[in-house]
Amino acid sequence: MANIGIVGLGLIGASLAGDLRQLGHQVYGVSRQQTTCDLAVERNLVDRASTDISTLAPCQIIIICTPIDKIVPTIALLAPHLSPETIVTDAGSVKESIVAPATKIWPNFVGGHPMAGKAESGIVAAELGMFRDKPYVVTPIAETNPIAVDKIKSLVESLDCRLFEASPIDHDRAVAWISHLPVMISSSLIHGCLENCPPDLLSLAKGLASSGFKDTSRVGGGNPELGIMMAEYNRTALLDALRAYQQDLAQTIESIDTNHWPKLLAKLARSQAARPEFLE
Ligand code: NAP
Repeated sequence: MANIGIVGLGLIGASLAGDLRQLGHQVYGVSRQQTTCDLAVERNLVDRASTDISTLAPCQIIIICTPIDKIVPTIALLAPHLSPETIVTDAGSVKESIVAPATKIWPNFVGGHPMAGKAESGIVAAELGMFRDKPYVVTPIAETNPIAVDKIKSLVESLDCRLFEASPIDHDRAVAWISHLPVMISSSLIHGCLENCPPDLLSLAKGLASSGFKDTSRVGGGNPELGIMMAEYNRTALLDALRAYQQDLAQTIESIDTNHWPKLLAKLARSQAARPEFLE
């Protein structure tokens, strides 16, 4: 068992903290607001919590779970308080813009990304077991200490996650397709309805919306700050995916516009057959 520090006691940080504490680790939390720290202790998600980052000095492993733009600056603030053996990892949804600068500041840094979430954010949304059976990507680079990688992989496996390893750039290109693109498409779905449905039809549409709309709108109804950072910090890969998707959608429009039903049927049949490959 280890002393594990979590910085950023929000949805991801507090959920990870609770799971790690249940495994028997001593969990030290740090967050921006004292009220969040108090709630984390009250809900038994951490053993102790503070707004003072130097309280993480006794930790062997530290997971940075702040918003994306605060991850590298947080590591810079943390570094003077740590012993050189401390392993620092993060939970950020992008990796290319984080891993190299973080490794420069802290050579024992290993990039990571637990692939689970929900529409709500903050500590109030934290949930035990949220990462069980979910993918967790570890993203070492040539400079990454292999011993630190092995330690983070063991920790990830102890959470019953499905462990993946990828380079930061491959990670960012893959998540552009299966995570960041869906957020933008789903947001456009909701936005498109609001902008284009006449008011009387819109209230009927809202009343009729059921499981299909619930599934397809879920990620578009999530934390806007996270969405904007996905776009800003994974801009190139996300633009590539959005433009390819736009072309694909144009083909669907053409099939319908020209009554080309066999072409549309083939596309729908292919997507029906392939969907399980993404989810199993
Ligand atoms: P969140 O619910 O908004 O939590 C982030 C928490 O960080 C906030 O509650 C805030 O705590 C704290 N914080 C903000 N600035 C801080 C700072 N400078 N120092 C210390 N704490 C700070 O966000 P989240 O969804 O958990 O996302 C956290 C990270 O996980 C992000 O990097 C994101 O990319 C990644 N991630 C998110 C998801 C997802 O689906 N949500 C999935 C995988 C990975 P206070 O309450 O104290 O202000």
